[in-house]
Amino acid sequence: MVQCWVMSDEKLIIIGTGPAGYTAAIYAARAGLSPLVFTGSQIGGQLTTTTEIENFPGFPEGIMGPELMFNMSQQAEKFGARYAYEDVVSLAQEACSGQFIVTTSGGAYKAQAVIIATGAAARYPGLEGEKELIGHGLTACATCDGAFYRDVPVCVVGGGDSACEEASFLTRFASKVYLIHRRDQLRASVAMQERVLKNPKIEPVWNSTIAAYHTTEGELSSITLRNTVSGEESPLEVKCVFMAIGHTPNSSFAGNLVERDAAGFICTVGTGTATKTPGLFAAGDVADPTYRQAISAAGAGCRAALDAERYLLSME
Ligand code: NAP
Repeated sequence: MVQCWVMSDEKLIIIGTGPAGYTAAIYAARAGLSPLVFTGSQIGGQLTTTTEIENFPGFPEGIMGPELMFNMSQQAEKFGARYAYEDVVSLAQEACSGQFIVTTSGGAYKAQAVIIATGAAARYPGLEGEKELIGHGLTACATCDGAFYRDVPVCVVGGGDSACEEASFLTRFASKVYLIHRRDQLRASVAMQERVLKNPKIEPVWNSTIAAYHTTEGELSSITLRNTVSGEESPLEVKCVFMAIGHTPNSSFAGNLVERDAAGFICTVGTGTATKTPGLFAAGDVADPTYRQAISAAGAGCRAALDAERYLLSME
């Protein structure tokens, strides 16, 4: 619990603007709650870095990720959602009232209820020189960057559905796709495994991880592989590494107001969106270690808004 000076007194604050945040904003705004939505620095979330989305219902011809997010944003605004273009740095509860204090890059705001919809960020292994390489031959988004690597060898790291999906997608562009996995068995669904393993352009590299990145004029030119069984190291020429080793939920700013699982995903109570703190709700990838789809996040955003609305009614 903290006590602090606040800039405004809100009924409902929504943190995050992916499909979960925007859908929560649409529902809450239509319910007359006039939510204040913090966009964070990546306005529209992960989908703004994708190209075409083919599996969001209602768009038989597909829709571009940025367009879908822009439409959701406009839809929420039409019903009275307000946007603050600030990053939330911490969330706490006021000592005297039990109300939430949302501290951002711009100040502090008070709210009776808060929905966390901050998504998850791609994970990297933490090797030397990694930060500088992102965008220069190291990325976690094949849909965003795959087309830049035509007719050159690339690799994907990971053994899950994301890694397999990325590897399949990259065969449209790259001359060869190495699928580097730390074990000798994929974690991905059987259908996905079959698709990858029968693709002649994809070569699995089992029991291996990346030990080092090497660059030429600031761009990735090759990597050193380390065998996880023998410890042996070997060079591999690739022009881009697509990392697909999971995501870290953006939940740390919420401190001890939420329960998290071992991977940092916010735990919600039962099948709803309530967290362990009354009045605090979580929706989308930040609370979803399993599905992580745009449509499942949007569904969770809807449920969070309805849960928050009921909570606010119960407090009147
Ligand atoms: P994931 O299933 O957690 O797989 C992560 C992979 O990265 C695992 O193979 C893991 O190896 C490996 N890994 C983790 N840390 C590593 C490290 N430090 N170094 C090297 N390798 C590392 O993650 P995901 O593939 O992103 O999928 C997440 C969820 O979304 C899953 O439930 C998945 O089914 C779902 N998803 C579904 C679809 C779809 O249906 N179209 C597409 C994408 C994702 P180990 O196997 O050894 O643990």
